[in-house]
Amino acid sequence: MKVPYFDLPGNIRSIRPELDAAISRTLDSCAFCLGPEVAQFEHDFAAFVGTRHCVGFNSGTSALHVAMRLLDIGPGDEVITTPFTFVATSWAIAYVGARPVYVDIDEKTMNLDPSLLERAITPRTKAVMPVHLYGHPFDVDPILEICARRGLPMVEDAAQAHGSRYKGRSVGTFGVLSGFSFYPAKNLGACGEGGALAMDSAEHARRAGALREHGASNRYYHDEVGYNYRMEGIQGAVLRVKLAHLAAWTAARRRIAHRYHELLAQTPLVLPIEAPNAESVYHLYVVRHPRRDKLRDHLLARGVGTALHYPLPLHLQKCFAGLGYGSGDFPIAERAARDCLSLPIYPEMSDSQTEYVAAAIGEFKDW
Ligand SMILES: *Cc1c(COP(=O)(O)O)cnc(C)c1O
Repeated sequence: MKVPYFDLPGNIRSIRPELDAAISRTLDSCAFCLGPEVAQFEHDFAAFVGTRHCVGFNSGTSALHVAMRLLDIGPGDEVITTPFTFVATSWAIAYVGARPVYVDIDEKTMNLDPSLLERAITPRTKAVMPVHLYGHPFDVDPILEICARRGLPMVEDAAQAHGSRYKGRSVGTFGVLSGFSFYPAKNLGACGEGGALAMDSAEHARRAGALREHGASNRYYHDEVGYNYRMEGIQGAVLRVKLAHLAAWTAARRRIAHRYHELLAQTPLVLPIEAPNAESVYHLYVVRHPRRDKLRDHLLARGVGTALHYPLPLHLQKCFAGLGYGSGDFPIAERAARDCLSLPIYPEMSDSQTEYVAAAIGEFKDW
């Protein structure tokens, strides 16, 4: 049997007629940049998240970049974030000329550790941007409490967490602004690139809409330096189709995760946990073991694809050498980078595939 790490062709096949109709509709209307499909998707996605407004972008990175602009963050400012995430969280901070300030992660959830947050705040701190990593919500309440007390806005990077819940409430509703990605491999993925900001503030929504369109709220009148960050009409149409399936896809991911929990409980692997009060959408199912490279080779030889999220924490990346961090600064993140292994998990995965992956792990003797 073969179990690919991810099965995008299977996902597209499962809804192909609906996608064909949506794309065809957009070809008829020729509304290729923003347009009614994007406006309808923004409306639907705001309702899904539970915010008053949603503004569509051409990527999650663009959305987070504009979040920094909306908070007027710039050179000399600091934004506190996690070193253990996809690099784009820190791009948003770097793009506006501000400095990412890292705080180590919590061993159990791999998310920013709230107990380390307050000591990282300086007079230059302008915002806190944690990530709901792998689809598991970060510990919102203690972070919000510190932000409220210190007068700092919290921005959620929810790029991996469409529909995750914290204390029963959807992520994306806690921060002043929340960024989502619709990269094809995300839980909700476009047929191309896409992203969004969710927010309650009408003023932020208005300004975000202008910044993504060259800084113009009136065509050819540019209030501030903006970007071409528009969502494409075809992606809006595709995302409307896919959003209608998201709840079922999330349920399937959660079922597979629970099956892995059962099947892998007796192995030496450290399994992902769901914190009390948290409901993960299992964007990824990440297990941990110091022998993960050997295990990875073993699985590959048995036709099972795996991935690493992430092999090098951001404070040790060459592009951020100028920040002055070094090895040993964030030991929990550094250890996670050494022993994390992402197993296949996607809605189209069959029970027999899940069982095959677990059986292949069971055959590994080189712990
Ligand atoms: C995917 C991702 C992004 C960026 O989204 P793109 O749409 O790929 O630009 C940002 N943050 C995190 C945590 C992500 O996983």
